[in-house]
Amino acid sequence: MKERIPTAAVAVIGGGASGLMAAIAAARGLRDSKTKSIKHPGEPSPDDREDRVVVLERCDRIGRKLLATGNGRCNFSNTGIESALYHPASWVEQVYSMLPPVRIHESFESMGLMIRCEDGRLYPASGTATSVLDVLRLELDRLQVALECDFSAIKLLPKKGGWLLEAADGRQLLARRVILAAGGKASPQLGSDGSGYALFTGLGHGLRPIEPALTGLRCPVHEVRSLGLKSLNGIRLQAKADWYQAANAGDKMVLKASETGEILFREYGLSGIAIFQLSRWTGPGEIRLDLFPELRFEDLLQKLIQMRQTLGWRSREAFLVGTLHKRVIQVLMQQASFQAKGTAADFTDADLKKLAGSMKDWRFPMAGNTGWQQAQITLGGLSVQEFDPLTLESKIQPGLYAAGEILDVDGPCGGFNLHWAWTSGWLAGTAAALSLSETRNPLIRKQGG
Ligand SMILES: Cc1cc2nc3c(=O)[nH]c(=O)nc-3n(C[C@H](O)[C@H](O)[C@H](O)COP(=O)(O)OP(=O)(O)OC[C@H]3O[C@@H](n4cnc5c(N)ncnc54)[C@H](O)[C@@H]3O)c2cc1C
Repeated sequence: MKERIPTAAVAVIGGGASGLMAAIAAARGLRDSKTKSIKHPGEPSPDDREDRVVVLERCDRIGRKLLATGNGRCNFSNTGIESALYHPASWVEQVYSMLPPVRIHESFESMGLMIRCEDGRLYPASGTATSVLDVLRLELDRLQVALECDFSAIKLLPKKGGWLLEAADGRQLLARRVILAAGGKASPQLGSDGSGYALFTGLGHGLRPIEPALTGLRCPVHEVRSLGLKSLNGIRLQAKADWYQAANAGDKMVLKASETGEILFREYGLSGIAIFQLSRWTGPGEIRLDLFPELRFEDLLQKLIQMRQTLGWRSREAFLVGTLHKRVIQVLMQQASFQAKGTAADFTDADLKKLAGSMKDWRFPMAGNTGWQQAQITLGGLSVQEFDPLTLESKIQPGLYAAGEILDVDGPCGGFNLHWAWTSGWLAGTAAALSLSETRNPLIRKQGG
């Protein structure tokens, strides 16, 4: 006898931030509705319960990436969430109009998460990302959401009344609604390997080309030595970073973007939050660091001239001790070709101008970013115009929903990307459940099925 294929009311592909939130929202929605008693002619027969919500995860456990976020502390949201800070702002604004940021914060609090705010960035007060995953897990358990791990979804086909899902190992599932929350391609070692896109592009959805972002920038290998990156490796400092790029090889470089914040020197190039924010600019270019953005060039030069008067007795090498990190001083001195011999009093005005120049305009040629392995997010993804911003339902294939990073939405560092994952997951889960129920939410314009 042919084995019966298990069924679910809602199947969520991906057990990451957006998928777990989508599953919780769907299970809550189904529990609150009268779905259990509704029979849909022609729909797959129920497996155990008709309101079953299943999370399908390709890794051996859910939430792996979540545990790595915020350096293991999970910067899960921000007090300054604004759609204008996202791409594409106008579409994200419509989504956020459905669910104000504070609702997400309250929802985490209601699941028992104590929240701590640091300069607008929201973290679990416990100081560990596991708390975020743990409160989600407990809620999933309470709602009896089924977790199916090692399920790498490779096929999604329309079936009468729903969808047939197939895993790489041949397992199958019939679901009335499917939410694709498989993430992008950033940090594939944490689960999201980009395999989710094909499930929807195969059904007619468009994809904006994808690129890694929120990652470090690499200097050309042959310049690493002259830039002193080996000795600078590991140093963190605050600076303004300007990104310069030429339209074509040989053209004049022009300023494209600026960020002020943490710079982390690496053996391969530059990293840190300010560099992450600039990493969305692809291709070769140049980073110019201003180590003293609060001072004009002339003011910095005057300071150095005064220091020469008062600290002229110091060795040349020690002249800037107290002003910059010691290893930064060494590299800047080497690059300016200053003799180590002699005292600071021997610096000429021209020498000090040169020093002030390097401190205000320290240049690093860049070959490109560090690639998918180290990227925090994906730029590009499923074209958002093909999804209803109020429900996240596909306009091409009703009954299918998408949430999180798999969509062509991205935000800056600071909790903005996880906030997007929670919000879109919540709306997709809620809408999928509502579309199965008799009750129609007047706020939601269109329902699938
Ligand atoms: C190191 C690191 C640190 C970060 N820190 C922060 C931070 O502090 N704050 C912040 O806001 N953002 C941060 N981000 C970004 C943030 O983690 C992501 O934007 C967010 O996790 C996206 O959520 P998602 O659910 O869309 O995708 P993901 O979290 O990537 O989850 C997708 C899930 O789907 C699974 N999957 C993929 N394909 C399939 C398939 N075919 N079948 C079944 N399952 C599949 C994956 O295994 C994965 O578990 C960080 C990212 C990284 C890599």
